Amino acid sequence: MDNATRLQYMEAMGIDVWTLRRLPIAVPQAAVHCESRIEHVVPATPFAAHEVEPSEQTVSSIIETVNIEFPRHSASSPSSHANDQIWRDLQHEVSLCEACSLCKTRTQTVFGVGNKQASWMLIGEAPGQNEDLQGEPFVGKAGQLLTEMLRAIGLKREEVYIANILKCRPPNNRDPQAEEVAACNRFLQQQIELIQPKIILAVGRIAAQSLLTTQQPLAKLRGVQHQLHDIPLIVIHHPAYLLRSLLEKAKAWSDLQFALSVYQKLEK
Ligand code: URA
Repeated sequence: MDNATRLQYMEAMGIDVWTLRRLPIAVPQAAVHCESRIEHVVPATPFAAHEVEPSEQTVSSIIETVNIEFPRHSASSPSSHANDQIWRDLQHEVSLCEACSLCKTRTQTVFGVGNKQASWMLIGEAPGQNEDLQGEPFVGKAGQLLTEMLRAIGLKREEVYIANILKCRPPNNRDPQAEEVAACNRFLQQQIELIQPKIILAVGRIAAQSLLTTQQPLAKLRGVQHQLHDIPLIVIHHPAYLLRSLLEKAKAWSDLQFALSVYQKLEK
């Protein structure tokens, strides 16, 4: 089915979509994919079924996405062969970790996934049931929403790197405990160091509070440019929260726009 027809069906079903309406701020020429021009104004795959859309957005609106190329680092880091080995060793170490009691209840560790030279790194809280079963972060319903949120700002899931504060699922998805966060922290820090992202998104309150070592509420942490090891860090709503609270959809959209504007300023 072509995209226009699919959109018509979705509109008839009352399903809204979430896509980028316009480029939030001017994109530097160098950052634009396709012969340095904003060339791809293509229909986005609809943001399907379950969740949210930015305010005023409907499927009948003009749909546009932009292909923004997010530059990769030129490596002042170890050779890619050595780097691959470091990653393999780290992942292996995580898989054997017994530093906290979560090792007793996990199905497997959930290391992280994505582009190891990504400019964007997303850090969530901890694996849930689906992640624990599949060994990959953000693969459940919240993960699908996160993927759509990324797409709304022109990022493909495979372009970014996604990890969690904890590498093991807390039983019944309870909040991580301080000693678990402390025990797991060195793995995440190594991942950040290896990737050296240009921007970090802390996904949700718990990730934000852990990374920034603060007890401040989410409302205070959002909309502000924080720094983590000199890397800009932006706090965004957790997609699981958005699934429960559609009223927050506009705030989620503004989180992403803010993150994108911070990133684009870095590139200037
Ligand atoms: N929520 C998270 O914070 N991380 C996941 O991997 C899945 C859900």
